[in-house]
Amino acid sequence: MHIELSRELQNFQQEVRAFLADAIPAEIREAGRLCTTIIAEHEATQAWHKIMYRQGWAAPNWPEEYGGPGWDVMRRYIFAQEYARAGAPRLPPQGLAMVAPALMGHGSDEQKAFYLPRILSGEDVWCQGYSEPGAGSDLASLQCRAVSDGDDYVINGSKIWTTSAHHADRMFCLVRTSTDGKPQAGITFLLLEMGIPGITVEPIHILGGDHEFNQVHFSDVRVPKSNRVGAENDGWTVAKYLLEFERGGGARAVGHRTRLNQIRALAAERRQSDGTCLLQEADFARELSALEIELTTVEFTEQRTMAEIAKRGSPGAASSMLKTRATEVQMAVSELGMRAIAYYAAPHQPEERLAGTNLQPIGQRDEMSLTARYLNDRAGSIYGGSNEIQRNIMAKLVLGM
Ligand SMILES: Cc1cc2nc3c(=O)[nH]c(=O)nc-3n(C[C@H](O)[C@H](O)[C@H](O)COP(=O)(O)OP(=O)(O)OC[C@H]3O[C@@H](n4cnc5c(N)ncnc54)[C@H](O)[C@@H]3O)c2cc1C
Repeated sequence: MHIELSRELQNFQQEVRAFLADAIPAEIREAGRLCTTIIAEHEATQAWHKIMYRQGWAAPNWPEEYGGPGWDVMRRYIFAQEYARAGAPRLPPQGLAMVAPALMGHGSDEQKAFYLPRILSGEDVWCQGYSEPGAGSDLASLQCRAVSDGDDYVINGSKIWTTSAHHADRMFCLVRTSTDGKPQAGITFLLLEMGIPGITVEPIHILGGDHEFNQVHFSDVRVPKSNRVGAENDGWTVAKYLLEFERGGGARAVGHRTRLNQIRALAAERRQSDGTCLLQEADFARELSALEIELTTVEFTEQRTMAEIAKRGSPGAASSMLKTRATEVQMAVSELGMRAIAYYAAPHQPEERLAGTNLQPIGQRDEMSLTARYLNDRAGSIYGGSNEIQRNIMAKLVLGM
């Protein structure tokens, strides 16, 4: 799809493009390029957050009253596209794109005044404490218990798959405050500091070798009641609202397209034993073209989701469609990447993948991240709520089945 931009929007696009071309330091660009997980190396990402904050662009989707640039939907979309095209590392979404909109929608004035500026500047890094060992898709069955004790809640239990908990200053989490009635009706949304007594963060290493997420244990952790967002036992409302933002919005297709173009270049370059290149193989070329078409459909869906946000302030249940299609295509792209590099997919080279390393990789530098990325991308159909669950949501809330 090609959208004809007005002169004004073209100027905006040029402004963003020019800034990003200049502003990303080489080592941060490298960290973004070599990133195989959701978020690039922590230090590089933090340094980049500060640069974007100084520019006033750390939170492109925030309204002006909270320090955002106040861009309309089209500007946000253009920005997101240029951002992905420039290879800038993604800023952690847990603060900027998840708890922040939840606070804007459901937080008290004091909570907004305290937390939002710290999220915007990158002073606080956040993690999300929803899933538990026995509660993932069936999130409402969560058991992490918060018992009222004077002005505090006392928390006992555990959260799992907590991305970036080892870097986070704060967590937003769901806790059980009642077992009466429907499971959804006994959940409360709390904000807590990661450094307080009783919290232990246990690393979980993933298939690609990276340390991205953790299990977090709570043992008699005291959290003031003033850290509650919304009413006691009404956390499900806040949680669902936040999940819409986790699943919808943004411009993912352009990042996948950049990767597909890299794969095309690799397949055109590398010679096979008979002197031909992979791109000349009909099956491979067909798959590549099919993925390009799929990516265009994801771009359409992104634009529809952005229009939905403009209209009603949140992406709505249709964000499930975007999450599902975008992750399916993302997984197919990384699978094609594995085919393109063939035997070079085999070496495991975690140190060679670090930005600024002087270790010589086996194969080309751009190829060595493809396996770890392929392995990590398998998680796409699981995180943010599995794609099967997204299909259930679409059937119920979008199609009314
Ligand atoms: C990379 C990554 C990062 C994550 N980060 C975080 C984080 O920061 N914070 C956090 O709280 N959580 C996080 N998660 C957890 C994630 O939200 C859960 O993994 C997800 O909700 C699925 O839950 P589960 O793993 O318990 O799988 P289960 O719920 O046990 O599901 C197992 C399988 O059964 C299917 N299934 C289950 N129920 C149904 C149903 N009703 N209909 C059809 N199929 C069904 C699922 O689709 C899945 O295929 C992360 C997960 C990943 C992979």
